[in-house]
Amino acid sequence: MSGRAVVVSGPSGVGKSTVCERLLADDDFELSVSATTRPKRGNEQDGVEYHFLSREAFDRKIADGAFLEWAEVYGGNRYGTLRAEVEGILAQGKHVLLNVDVQGAEQLRERGLALTTIFLLPPEPWEETLRARLGRRGDTTGEVLERRLQRAREELAEAEFYDHRVVNDDLERAVAAIRAILEG
Ligand code: ADP
Ligand code: 5GP
Repeated sequence: MSGRAVVVSGPSGVGKSTVCERLLADDDFELSVSATTRPKRGNEQDGVEYHFLSREAFDRKIADGAFLEWAEVYGGNRYGTLRAEVEGILAQGKHVLLNVDVQGAEQLRERGLALTTIFLLPPEPWEETLRARLGRRGDTTGEVLERRLQRAREELAEAEFYDHRVVNDDLERAVAAIRAILEG
């Protein structure tokens, strides 16, 4: 069996990490752990949620061609998909989950990778939903939160370029909808 590369994008706070975590409970899925220059949040561990790199280390990897794509996402922080992660997971015959922003998805499409792209949408009124979810997560406040909401507006405009759009209203329903897409 050969695995598929599955991109899950959506605005900050919509529930990408939560949904990906649920999909990863299935043995045939594995997360491509990205590299980032952003600081760790809460209980995050190096090598689990991300490979946390200094800006210098990140830029060395760019120069080495280690990334399938990379982008500056928030506040000058860089995020990138490591070629070795994706190839390693696909070589095991598993589906690889890519939690990347809209710029990353576009670069992966341009590379001609066989992708299934899914955009997670917040239930309306979207701004209220994202504000509440980020507030509940508790690690994104003040100016950072406002910047993420501003960026969310731009990202939502990109939803139409994805293969599928799934509203993350009820978590179980959204996860079931994604499984159905991937089985279909
Ligand atoms: P993202 O990775 O997209 O930034 P997270 O997965 O961190 O978002 O989720 C943001 C917050 O929303 C978390 O507190 C999470 O528990 C909550 N959340 C995720 N999915 C749902 C849902 N379907 N309904 C209500 N809250 C949710
Ligand atoms: P966070 O800082 O909340 O973990 O993630 C912020 C944003 O970065 C999210 O929109 C997420 O999809 C995006 N992101 C995470 N990893 C990557 C990556 O490897 N490449 C790109 N382009 N975006 C990423």
